[in-house]
Amino acid sequence: MDRKILLSELYKQSPDGWDIIVIGGGATGLGIALDAITRGYKTLLLEQSDFAKATSSRSTKLVHGGVRYLAKGDLLLVIEALHERGLMLKNAPHLTCDQEFVIPIYTLWDAFLYTVGLKFYDMLAGKLSLGKSYFIDREKTINRLPLLQSKGLKGGVVYHDGQFDDTRMAITLAKAFTDRGGVLLNYFMVTGLLKNENEKINGVIAKDVNSGVDINLNARLIINATGVFADDVIRMDNPASKPYIRPSQGVHIVLDKSFLNSESAIMIPKTDDGRVLFAIPWYDKVVVGTTDTPLDKISLEPVALESEISFILQTAQKYLIKPPKREDILCVFAGLRPLAANPDKPMATKEISRRHKIILSPSQLLTITGDKWTTYRLMAEEVINRAIEGGFLEKRRCVTSKLKLNISETDVSSTRLKIYDDHLGEIEQIISKNPELGEQFNNQLPYTRAEIIWICRNEMPLTLEDMMARRTRSLFLNARVSSEIAPEVAKIMAVELGFDEKWEHEQIKTYNKLVVNYL
Ligand SMILES: Cc1cc2nc3c(=O)[nH]c(=O)nc-3n(C[C@H](O)[C@H](O)[C@H](O)COP(=O)(O)OP(=O)(O)OC[C@H]3O[C@@H](n4cnc5c(N)ncnc54)[C@H](O)[C@@H]3O)c2cc1C
Repeated sequence: MDRKILLSELYKQSPDGWDIIVIGGGATGLGIALDAITRGYKTLLLEQSDFAKATSSRSTKLVHGGVRYLAKGDLLLVIEALHERGLMLKNAPHLTCDQEFVIPIYTLWDAFLYTVGLKFYDMLAGKLSLGKSYFIDREKTINRLPLLQSKGLKGGVVYHDGQFDDTRMAITLAKAFTDRGGVLLNYFMVTGLLKNENEKINGVIAKDVNSGVDINLNARLIINATGVFADDVIRMDNPASKPYIRPSQGVHIVLDKSFLNSESAIMIPKTDDGRVLFAIPWYDKVVVGTTDTPLDKISLEPVALESEISFILQTAQKYLIKPPKREDILCVFAGLRPLAANPDKPMATKEISRRHKIILSPSQLLTITGDKWTTYRLMAEEVINRAIEGGFLEKRRCVTSKLKLNISETDVSSTRLKIYDDHLGEIEQIISKNPELGEQFNNQLPYTRAEIIWICRNEMPLTLEDMMARRTRSLFLNARVSSEIAPEVAKIMAVELGFDEKWEHEQIKTYNKLVVNYL
């Protein structure tokens, strides 16, 4: 992922045009780009901000079938997602893991309901099941979750789902794509669509956000994978189009691991607003969430409502012996679900099916939205198949179900560092030349200076925020501390990327403003 090389490819290849231009560099767009390049289509992906800047960095970090959707009877969604869960754990073992969950049980009816329900969930996973679910008594539940409120507790139901690091997965997809000759660029915004004399879309107008320069790019097929922003692109095609997207905000808080003190996660199946709440160990912290708040306005940087934070705290306080308070929150982050609704049928956001939708406009803009991170691969396969069925692309088989996203056959490390796969040696080489670079910035965040240097050289970060929020997870793990190490990180980035002191100061100022939203 070398931005200079990719930029020159963009200009070099443009006269012939591309087979496919994908708009949007979140889970969906990156998945589509990888599917397309592995089928041999010449593919370009454009992202207006950074990869996974929007919803794809703000998930609950679950690779899951969706126990909640089972309760709603959305079987197709659950079966598909369980299958994809299995593939993701097989194909990206360095970024995913099996996570044990315990549902605390307070009534005999719930014991019956969740034991049977979760057995069914296992069954639907078939050969790709991560392990059997089963009922455990009160004592075993307390052993697993020593900080769970035990008043009235009858036992627990244990089940398994997957867990991952969403932005590291996004960067891995981007790398896998460019390794195969794909071209992608962050900070390139699509501002308009080009049409031929038959009113069919055959290209995009894109703005290089840094230079302000516009470029026209042609392609046989344009895919709109812009998540909650999909309506904006649809309106570039047809200004009179009704809105398809019903955005719904979900908020998480991050706490110190001492609030859970367990390797097992808690799943509360029914909160006061009828949702589920998770408390999940993640990188030595605990992620707790989420909410479901319908919104009218969308933003690249959504902000948690105080009422959402209070709701999560109050629910967590009911279940945890050490009740978390506002000042215990290390980070609060908000994300927008790109729910795809029927524009003619209004309904509550929690009732809208999470399954993806593919929309082909009369002028041949292919839009895909909805669903989960977990199903990114399937969504990509289906949208490219749809393009083939529509005659926009010649027929070629999808190969991603067996596409390994890790290079190293052996598990290079059992620690956090396994996210770097077989590049870990390159980081170690940086450290061997200067051992000080192997030191962490401080003891509250795990990252070393050598990692920052390696990321600058290999993962296309352009801003301090790219580094703090998505290449490392500093912002999400501890917003305040991330702000403390920001000046030193900015200094290293400036040296590596060839920026001056003015850039450093501007980046720190902008970053500190952003951090306020995460506190
Ligand atoms: C609170 C919450 C929790 C979730 N938890 C989970 C979970 O645990 N597991 C799971 O599987 N799923 C989860 N999901 C769902 C999952 O995160 C989303 O389905 C997925 O990230 C959507 O990806 P996307 O690429 O469609 O959208 P996005 O990630 O929003 O990407 C769209 C991209 O398009 C770009 N873009 C927009 N307009 C333009 C333009 N004009 N030009 C260029 N680029 C443009 C945006 O900048 C953005 O980066 C969760 C969602 C939420 C909100």
